[in-house]
Amino acid sequence: MSMELSDIQVCGRSVKKCLADIEAFHGFTAPGLVLGAFMVDWAQELLGDDVEADAIVETHHCLPDAIQIFTPCTFGNGWMKVLDWDKFALSLYDKKTLTGYRVWLDLEKARQFPNLYNWYMRLAPKKDLPLEVMVETVVNANRDALSYGPIRVTQFHAPLKKGNTEICPGCGEAYPTAQGTQCLTCQGQGYYELQQ
Ligand SMILES: [Zn+2]
Repeated sequence: MSMELSDIQVCGRSVKKCLADIEAFHGFTAPGLVLGAFMVDWAQELLGDDVEADAIVETHHCLPDAIQIFTPCTFGNGWMKVLDWDKFALSLYDKKTLTGYRVWLDLEKARQFPNLYNWYMRLAPKKDLPLEVMVETVVNANRDALSYGPIRVTQFHAPLKKGNTEICPGCGEAYPTAQGTQCLTCQGQGYYELQQ
């Protein structure tokens, strides 16, 4: 990585530290997460430091981990909602006012970075776009392939509520009564079978 690239800061850390944090959390460095770091960085800057933010992510791929690495929002603490829409976009918003910013990969802008465009649109074989090339491309692009818009969140902001819990007569485990008179697994809708 060239000097200028490693001097760039994203999410309050150097690009080098950012890559190390991604690898530690995600298991490997994925270009989508580096891109995600720049998206979170911009959304956080727009929202301001003093705002308690919740997050909504519009894809299961990569971006949820960018939120979990670079913000206090996680899937488990309920401050991040993940929508399976496969759009490379995320929003950070004030959990009190529900206003905030959506940041997305703007494909029209991404065209000026052919590696980025071809990577996202899967127009180039993976071997032609190795990680070093993609990291350099993403860091060079910085915010120039992204767009943002101010938003007010109208859905998906409510905390996930826990309903009533009882003991399942089939397995003896606690389960939400909203599932019926037995847990889903005992109703035959489980995801596993017992092995000997
Ligand atoms: Zn059961």
